[in-house]
Amino acid sequence: MTAIVLLGPPGAGKGTVAEALAGKGYTHVSTGDLLREQIRLETPLGLEAKANMDQGKFVPDKVVVGMIRSLLESADRGQKFLFDGFPRTLVQAEKFDELLLSLEGAIDGVILLECPAEVIVERLSGRRTCGKCGTVYHVKYNPPAMHNICDTEGCELIQRPDDNEETIKKRLEVYAERTAPLISYYKAKNLIHPINASRSIAEVRSAVLEQLG
Ligand code: ADP
Ligand code: ADP
Repeated sequence: MTAIVLLGPPGAGKGTVAEALAGKGYTHVSTGDLLREQIRLETPLGLEAKANMDQGKFVPDKVVVGMIRSLLESADRGQKFLFDGFPRTLVQAEKFDELLLSLEGAIDGVILLECPAEVIVERLSGRRTCGKCGTVYHVKYNPPAMHNICDTEGCELIQRPDDNEETIKKRLEVYAERTAPLISYYKAKNLIHPINASRSIAEVRSAVLEQLG
């Protein structure tokens, strides 16, 4: 089992890159999507997660690591994963290493999507999502064929409750404080591949593909 980790601030384009790599043999795992699915199903885990997510705070490490543990434990030995939004704290990164070790898996590389704050704010403010299939659009940079309608599902797109100016600011603070330290963590393991993510979706996609070889 191998894993590629997509690291970067909220709005850098992790989900978009992961979608663009569909069909390349990776299983895309987004902890944000997994948590939103729990919210939709109104499970106890979902209810606990929602309170944190709506305020731009992280869901507790124990909850997120538990989700990843059950996913990896039921995976095939040869499976290739693309992690988007996990790990996000040092504790998660350490638990992830332990877990992979116990399953004879390894991280192949960490792709760091670098993007300045002003670009991020514009991306997150214009982000629209399909509530059914999870496809991510942008009003300007990646619009659907018909205004505000999902290309696949034909339903109206939604704006995530955490994509408002105040919560975006909070999420950027939390990123700087709790996720940015992972850059040195993975640098020390020689796993980091930085990519300039402030370019177009197509350019970022080919830069990532080049890294993946
Ligand atoms: P973004 O696209 O803005 O990076 P995500 O969809 O990845 O957002 O995550 C949305 C929210 O879900 C986060 O702000 C956080 O509250 C929660 N979340 C997702 N992944 C994790 C994680 N690995 N650890 C803790 N909380 C998480
Ligand atoms: P993340 O998963 O890192 O939070 P997303 O993939 O959801 O980021 O992207 C955030 C928003 O920015 C979405 O509306 C997406 O369509 C848009 N976006 C992503 N990558 C780019 C890019 N390279 N150029 C312009 N807009 C982008």
